[in-house]
Amino acid sequence: QHLLSSYLATNAAAPSHTEKPCLPQWSRNDLVAALNGNQFEPYFQPKIDLDTGMPTCVEILARWHHPDLGILPPSQFIELMEQHKVIDQLTGCLLVQSLSCAKQCAAKGKDIGFAINVSPVTLQDSRTPSRIGALVRECGLCSEQITIEVTETASSKNFTSVLESLTRLRMQGFEISIDDFGMGYSSLQLLSQMPFTELKIDRSFVTDVCSRAKSAAILESVIHLAEKLNLRIVAEGIETTDELQFIRSLGVGTGQGFLLGRPMGQKNLIHYLEDEFSLEGVFQMDGIPPR
Ligand code: C2E
Ligand code: MG
Ligand code: MG
Ligand code: MG
Repeated sequence: QHLLSSYLATNAAAPSHTEKPCLPQWSRNDLVAALNGNQFEPYFQPKIDLDTGMPTCVEILARWHHPDLGILPPSQFIELMEQHKVIDQLTGCLLVQSLSCAKQCAAKGKDIGFAINVSPVTLQDSRTPSRIGALVRECGLCSEQITIEVTETASSKNFTSVLESLTRLRMQGFEISIDDFGMGYSSLQLLSQMPFTELKIDRSFVTDVCSRAKSAAILESVIHLAEKLNLRIVAEGIETTDELQFIRSLGVGTGQGFLLGRPMGQKNLIHYLEDEFSLEGVFQMDGIPPR
């Protein structure tokens, strides 16, 4: 932990021409060794039905248990893994662990959907749909339970191959979600061509939405658009009860955010699902009327 903070401090002080902080420069070998050493673990963050307060699905988020640095978030390694072409292995290893967790949940009578973030780099590979399909079948789960989350990609060079993979995944029954909607460059074109079933509006439009008229206007239009296109809409990054109340009043069906549930490890997920908890309490406690 100390090493990491001093490392980050060093990087922060370094001159940079981009807004992004410098990434730690792990080599391909470091990353492969970490993958082989099972240092990656899925965390799970619930998506909550805003009518019932119940979780409908959990999103798989990668965590690296670094032997020296502690638990590292995806911002520290995803981009590097894409560059070194080891991101497919990460997705595979997270899926295997998550699907076994899904089986455990189902055995306890807690059937819940799982959503996995899949990099455009992985989706460019024409082998991806059959690989993911085979993994899910091997685990005895059905593809209808799994959502593929993909972020908008500015690269039109790979548009066709990504489109082909997503279409084949959709044909196998997977749900397809456009993640961080509004942050990319060609969102509207993507919406008209990709086989999406869900739209996740980026956290930046949700933060302080109650006091930012422009965010609220954008949110309302996106909700309208999603309804017209028959897409389920998810608002991500809900942190306050004011935001929750506002989002619900706009008619958004599903929410995600620290207020509704933080990312958690497998053990905590199972406890969480077994607790039969409901957010109705949260809604009432904060004076938020049921819809
Ligand atoms: P994302 O898919 O948009 O996931 C949501 C991110 O926002 C997660 O960060 C989550 O912890 C965080 N978050 C959720 N609710 C709140 C909130 O209320 N407030 C704030 N401030 N943050 C919230 P995380 O886990 O650090 O992941 C960051 C991004 O890394 C993800 O964004 C996703 O794009 C990417 N990622 C994570 N796991 C994977 C993976 O296995 N494969 C790929 N390709 N990308 C991944
Ligand atoms: Mg996501
Ligand atoms: Mg997102
Ligand atoms: Mg995001």
